Amino acid sequence: MQFDALVVGGSFAGLSAAMQLARARRSVCVVDAGAPRNRFAAAAHGFFGQDGVAPRTMIDQARAKLLAYPSVQFVAGTAQTAAADANGGFALALDSGQQLRARKLLLATGVQDVLPDIPGLRERWGASVLHCPYCHGYEFGGQALGVLYAVPGSAHHVQLIADWGPTTLFLNGHTDLDAATAAQLQAKGIAIEPAPLQGLEGPLPQLAGVRLTDGRLVPLDALFVAPTQRMGSSLAEQLGCAFDAGPMGPLIRTDASKLSSVPGVYAAGDAAQTAQNATLASADGVMAGVALHQSLVFGT
Ligand SMILES: Cc1cc2nc3c(=O)[nH]c(=O)nc-3n(C[C@H](O)[C@H](O)[C@H](O)COP(=O)(O)OP(=O)(O)OC[C@H]3O[C@@H](n4cnc5c(N)ncnc54)[C@H](O)[C@@H]3O)c2cc1C
Repeated sequence: MQFDALVVGGSFAGLSAAMQLARARRSVCVVDAGAPRNRFAAAAHGFFGQDGVAPRTMIDQARAKLLAYPSVQFVAGTAQTAAADANGGFALALDSGQQLRARKLLLATGVQDVLPDIPGLRERWGASVLHCPYCHGYEFGGQALGVLYAVPGSAHHVQLIADWGPTTLFLNGHTDLDAATAAQLQAKGIAIEPAPLQGLEGPLPQLAGVRLTDGRLVPLDALFVAPTQRMGSSLAEQLGCAFDAGPMGPLIRTDASKLSSVPGVYAAGDAAQTAQNATLASADGVMAGVALHQSLVFGT
């Protein structure tokens, strides 16, 4: 069977796109490997009407609503290869060996966070090691916060985090923070700790403090980091999509309608935009789903 659309990635962006296509009575198949980016967090925050709900619950509920539409299929699995076919459409090969075909393809495959290699950090990701204050800052409001310096932009990040509570900037051995910026941060009450980190301590997944290589323990409730990112899958690369350099890693280049540089291939969500959260990924998916439907109608 050839679908009107294949959607790879069944999370905030992919399910939102597929909903638009389902409601347009188009045949759509969603393929999902079941690893949304925020799966490490017990609760997602800030999503309209769903604040504090577990990410899995949100996704399960959205998928159940989508599967109520008769033209939708869902396949749990990983799309390993994607290629243009001889009829102007696209073919996916899944890890199960299953082959799927469609006239149009949407990549909603997200990104993977590449965390700093510090003992005890990975185990606390999404609980007491965080990246987004809007997602998880409120829960640590007024508590002892830290920011791990990575790039000069960390000096901007730390001023933001300090709005949630007393904050320490851990330079972790970096020496490129200039004196004027350091003075500006200290004037705002931000402590600066130059020593390298040895590891994070406390009963998992909580954080009690950061152990420095000189032996001191700095008490801390949450540490904010800014991980670099890589694509959630290699499918865009396989298809020859162009990429842009995002602030934290590559992003699939799209136009305003979420069409990639490859005709017929759309991309949405964290994989294809700089501003990344669940709401924005969902909205991006809606845009892509509508644009993809209209390209089916108008043959563009
Ligand atoms: C720790 C943490 C906490 C967060 N908390 C919040 C929060 O509280 N509020 C908020 O708004 N945002 C939060 N975010 C951000 C949010 O998780 C992302 O913005 C959102 O998940 C992006 O949605 P997406 O659909 O683009 O990608 P994802 O949710 O990452 O989904 C991509 C999907 O594609 C699948 N996939 C990838 N490759 C393939 C393939 N080849 N074949 C099949 N399937 C594939 C994956 O398995 C996954 O299910 C958080 C992020 C992190 C890291």
